[in-house]
Amino acid sequence: MSKLKLKPCPFCGTPNPMCGSDRYVSVGQSITCHDVDCGAQMWETTPELAARAWNRRADPPVLECRVCGCKHVRVYELEGLPVIECVDCNRSWGRDG
Ligand SMILES: [Zn+2]
Ligand SMILES: [Zn+2]
Repeated sequence: MSKLKLKPCPFCGTPNPMCGSDRYVSVGQSITCHDVDCGAQMWETTPELAARAWNRRADPPVLECRVCGCKHVRVYELEGLPVIECVDCNRSWGRDG
């Protein structure tokens, strides 16, 4: 069994997804969300790959500052539109430019 810690479900946020192989499938490993309404599932050939794919999905994409290239950016809403702001150089821009 994998020792990798699994993040909450990337779709509904339910913590502690189930990790285990399906006995009807000979090769592969699945991670399944506990929430029956969500039922998100991820398949990979090994538990490690499944856990990595699950956690990668759970992580929001890393944003980079357009000006200085750092990753110290934060996203907030201004008048209903997402604005990205760099903490290092204090520049900000909208998500679409
Ligand atoms: Zn879920
Ligand atoms: Zn910057």
